[in-house]
Amino acid sequence: MDKIQKIVSLCKRRGFVFPGSEIYNGLANTWDYGPLGAQLVKNIKDLWWKRFVEDREDIVGLQSGIIMNSKVWQASGHLKNFADPLVECEKCKKRFRQDQVKDRCPDCSGILTAPKQFNLMLKTFIGPIEDKSSEVYLRPETAQGMFINYKLVKDSMRLQIPFGIAQIGKAFRNEITPGNFIFRVLEFEQMEIEYFCEEKDWQKYFDYWQKQMANWLKYISLSNYKIREHQKDELSHYSKKTIDFEYKFPFGQKELYGLAYRTDFDLKAHGFKNPAHVIEPTFGVERTFLALLCEAYCEEDKRIVLRLDTKLAPYKAAVFPLLANKPKLVKKAREIFNSLKTNMPIAWDDRGNIGKRYYSQDEIGTPYCLTIDFQTLEDDTLTIRDRDTMKQKRIKANALTQEFVKNP
Ligand code: ATP
Repeated sequence: MDKIQKIVSLCKRRGFVFPGSEIYNGLANTWDYGPLGAQLVKNIKDLWWKRFVEDREDIVGLQSGIIMNSKVWQASGHLKNFADPLVECEKCKKRFRQDQVKDRCPDCSGILTAPKQFNLMLKTFIGPIEDKSSEVYLRPETAQGMFINYKLVKDSMRLQIPFGIAQIGKAFRNEITPGNFIFRVLEFEQMEIEYFCEEKDWQKYFDYWQKQMANWLKYISLSNYKIREHQKDELSHYSKKTIDFEYKFPFGQKELYGLAYRTDFDLKAHGFKNPAHVIEPTFGVERTFLALLCEAYCEEDKRIVLRLDTKLAPYKAAVFPLLANKPKLVKKAREIFNSLKTNMPIAWDDRGNIGKRYYSQDEIGTPYCLTIDFQTLEDDTLTIRDRDTMKQKRIKANALTQEFVKNP
């Protein structure tokens, strides 16, 4: 099994990510997030929002609709330009994005057709009649919501440029190429910032945001990436300069995040007077999730361990009574579990032996395991075991909260 297959299997086995609609034979490029995956997604989004919105004075949040007036997409150029060149294999009829294949079908070496433009927006209809006038699109990026609300946000919050609007939300794309697990999906979440500035300052803020993005990557402990600047012919229709943060996934070095100078293209397109210029840092939630798992996944002699940063780990700790059939131990362990539970996500396990419980928590990235034994009943100390070093020490139960504050 290669690394990505092992990660997919761990994700399913341990409740991180399940194949979408599995009981109906699935639906390609869709995935559901299980209990631990949902928590990891939440941790990623919470950390991002705190860092880029709550901790800053110059950025405000927004939550705009997924469905908007179709004129938005006409003005933004997406109806016309948001397309990929698609080629089809004449033999096996599989479709590929032209930029991702050479001159022959990668599956059966058949001849490929000439490329056709294929719009990536997912379409639906409002009301009972399915015609042009009721056509709407599920947004392919969160950005336009921030552009069309630009003046409302600026005026209501009394902002002056430079300032930013941030949004976390779903985006939809009718992707035609194979997904590589959650790397390329039909429905995903973006964490985006539109940073508005004067034209003369664009380079300064571009460089600034490049650094901020690198700092974020450091903060969540992702180091295995490279920066790649787009060539002129690769640039999106709205961009004058774009760089990608490419992560070295097991299936190749691919875009994790993007940073684009969108000029005043969008605000102008929507008819705003004196349009500001825009720098856009964009972060994909699913790709962050996948990169974190790729970076954290380790196989050691006798265990699999997810070395997730404590601030990202779905459970911060697990509590075990040494023996499940000793009511006094279980009662004491429950007390400790309950006292921690309201402060942080925490797991309980009383099955099998301690070794198996450690194994099980290591695999889902729980940084600390706390074992309550007979000594705990006497002197209120317990064993705390560190996921990465596997070292154990005894500490006072009432020093636990402090221990976690020290290692947040
Ligand atoms: P790609 O070239 O891989 O198709 P893109 O350049 O079209 O990506 P952007 O339009 O820059 O992507 O989207 C911003 C971010 O949204 C990306 O950096 C990525 O993290 C995320 N993203 C885009 N498309 C998908 C998708 N189909 N599935 C998951 N995440 C995506």
